[in-house]
Amino acid sequence: MNNHVMTRKDIIALAVLLVVGIIGLAVIFFYKGYEGESVLVKVDGKVYGRYPLDVDLELKIEDEWGINVIEIRDGEARVSKADCPDKICMKTGSISRNTETIVCLPHRLVVTIEGRDDDVIR
Ligand SMILES: [Zn+2]
Repeated sequence: MNNHVMTRKDIIALAVLLVVGIIGLAVIFFYKGYEGESVLVKVDGKVYGRYPLDVDLELKIEDEWGINVIEIRDGEARVSKADCPDKICMKTGSISRNTETIVCLPHRLVVTIEGRDDDVIR
């Protein structure tokens, strides 16, 4: 008589929908990655500096291996100038997501995006 009472079947259907939804969100979250929070710059395996990703900055690194200019703008980091022979660091383009990395092998430079809550690899 009463059509508003949920049957056992309805409850199972709802539970399945809920689980599918959660898995879907988890998959999207996993593929998108976390929003990055800061930019870690390493030279020759040593920490050169750590900079907030949301503050625009132009950072010139000049050392015995050469020159790299790192630009942080609009929540993205990139190598805007470099005098290395391969220019792979410049070709990598902008990074903004957690654990994304730009490497300049000739200059032993590594630029990595670090998240706020994850375990930071040092
Ligand atoms: Zn380079």
